[in-house]
Amino acid sequence: MERCYNFSAGPSMLPLEVLTKAQEDLLAYKDSGMSVMEMSHRSPEFEEILHHAQDSLRKLMNIPDNYKILFMQGGASTQFAAVPLNLLSDHKCADYIVSGQFSKKAYQEAKKYGDIAIAASSAGAVPVFSTIPETKRSDFRPDADYVHICFNNTIYGTKFHYVPDTGNIPLVADMSSCILSEPVDVSQFGLIYAGAQKNVAPAGVTIVIVRDDLIGNARPDTPAMLDYKLMADNDSMYNTPPCWCIYMAGLVFDWILDMGGLEEMKRRNERKASLLYDYLDSQSYYTAPVDKKCRSMMNVVFVTGNADLDKKFASEASAAGLKNLKGHRSVGGMRASIYNAMPYEGVQALVAFMKKFAIENPQF
Ligand code: PMP
Repeated sequence: MERCYNFSAGPSMLPLEVLTKAQEDLLAYKDSGMSVMEMSHRSPEFEEILHHAQDSLRKLMNIPDNYKILFMQGGASTQFAAVPLNLLSDHKCADYIVSGQFSKKAYQEAKKYGDIAIAASSAGAVPVFSTIPETKRSDFRPDADYVHICFNNTIYGTKFHYVPDTGNIPLVADMSSCILSEPVDVSQFGLIYAGAQKNVAPAGVTIVIVRDDLIGNARPDTPAMLDYKLMADNDSMYNTPPCWCIYMAGLVFDWILDMGGLEEMKRRNERKASLLYDYLDSQSYYTAPVDKKCRSMMNVVFVTGNADLDKKFASEASAAGLKNLKGHRSVGGMRASIYNAMPYEGVQALVAFMKKFAIENPQF
């Protein structure tokens, strides 16, 4: 069996150790005589899997007791609606920082439910969304029910390297493409959500970490499946949860805990990202079009400046076992997503390929 280095933005690589463990359990989980995929979600075995995953995540992210962990469905995009439905409780107004396509989508969805304003945006940057807006407390309306940000912009390869100061206004963060890549102080946020398919598990489960006081205020017409209170009261089992994904998430949490937790994960991620960015900064064949102080550690965007060469790069890299390096269709160029499960050797192989490609395809 030959495994490639998969630089996909998501769904993306899972740790080999986790896949191997899942393979061991695939036909029969412990003494149950059945696969997790075949198990009732009301069985004691699955309840243990669910609670273990919740406990491991709480430990890993040091989640305070006054926050609930919900395993929801519908991807991060469903949270674009669930957040306003649950949180626009007081003044029916919220402020959004728009720093990429996903925060823009979140803003557009929220606009269906209340008075939603853009407090700051990097849409006007050149190239578009190549930086993260700076904000101060006075940028937010004092009566906003919450402020929403996308912490890491998967498509553009930018990341918030500061947590906006919103005073008493709850801060909501889409962490789909950076959750578990480094420690975060959960208490600085009112709500964190993330689709699983980058750093957590296969696609199908969405993690929501929400402070208790933000639960229980959903609009009366909120669909049951999006109501945080209903989800919390039913321990994320109001209906059949994505059992397999939750099991896989639990294995990934344990994988990170076993390696030493999020500090160690961050050390490894910094080492990988530095290897690639240091190379990009050391030469002129490729350009990294992102504001240096806003660079993402997870999604590294680069271009040759020639669309035909970019295409050739992605296709030859793929033939060499370095898959999914083509940039997002809206941006072009290349994007290397180097999430937690990408080994250092994968980034080494990429840099070696980049050097070889530059020599073989000179630009004049
Ligand atoms: N937010 C971010 C930051 C993302 O990267 C993505 C998907 N790549 C989404 C939201 C949408 O996630 P989903 O496909 O799970 O709805």
